[in-house]
Amino acid sequence: MKLLVPVKRVVDYNVKVRVKADGSGVETANVKMSMNPFDEIAVEEAVRLKERGIATEIVVVSVGPTQAQEQIRTALAMGADRGILVEHPETVEPLAVAKILKALVAREQPGLVVMGKQAIDDDMNATGQMLAALLSWGQGTFASSVEVAGDTATVKREVDGGAETVQLRLPAVVTADLRLNEPRYASLPNIMKARKKPIETIRPADLGVDPAPRLTLLKVEEPPTRQAGVKVASVAELVAKLKTEAKVI
Ligand code: AMP
Repeated sequence: MKLLVPVKRVVDYNVKVRVKADGSGVETANVKMSMNPFDEIAVEEAVRLKERGIATEIVVVSVGPTQAQEQIRTALAMGADRGILVEHPETVEPLAVAKILKALVAREQPGLVVMGKQAIDDDMNATGQMLAALLSWGQGTFASSVEVAGDTATVKREVDGGAETVQLRLPAVVTADLRLNEPRYASLPNIMKARKKPIETIRPADLGVDPAPRLTLLKVEEPPTRQAGVKVASVAELVAKLKTEAKVI
């Protein structure tokens, strides 16, 4: 079974994001970029499925600028077999990414798409669900465990206050949550090997998809800075402050 694993290039999760002075977005110039953390988990799960003899080939795809090749190479070093860069210099919204992935599914015929539950830059949490809808496939979102047997996948999902287990007929879409696994670090020999693995570059138009955005970003703002705390002398003073200053009771 072939696996398709979409990975997004995002600002590294350790970077303190700065909003551009004109509020038109966040600063990405000279900022460390990495693979979206949930996508690393998806790649790890795909590699484990291959190690267990369930998957035969892992195809990684990224929709983004030329530099998104770096994230594809990281996935190849973790154990994926080949990459596809759908090159587009500007932001591509979830619906357009989902349409691109749908076209690639038609071309590649994977048995399972394993992807992140959410990109940490736009926090959309939409692409996997949209892809499953466009394909009329089942979806196992927020997965904390995935078992594949025959033509079904059993997915344990993280839901509020507990877990839910669903069974999906393959092909299907699974989106990875934080607890699914701990992604491996690529070893140096594997990083060297990954340099020889193929990456094909195409454009959204080659797949018949118009990547033009449908949303207009109006403004990005920093969260308000936190005020320093104060010590109160008594419960009465605390209650008074909560009533008159914080106005929460
Ligand atoms: P989102 O719906 O934007 O929160 O993203 C959810 C998941 O969709 C991500 O974790 C990725 O697996 C995938 N995805 C979103 N955007 C892209 C992209 N530009 N290229 C590849 N995969 C993407």
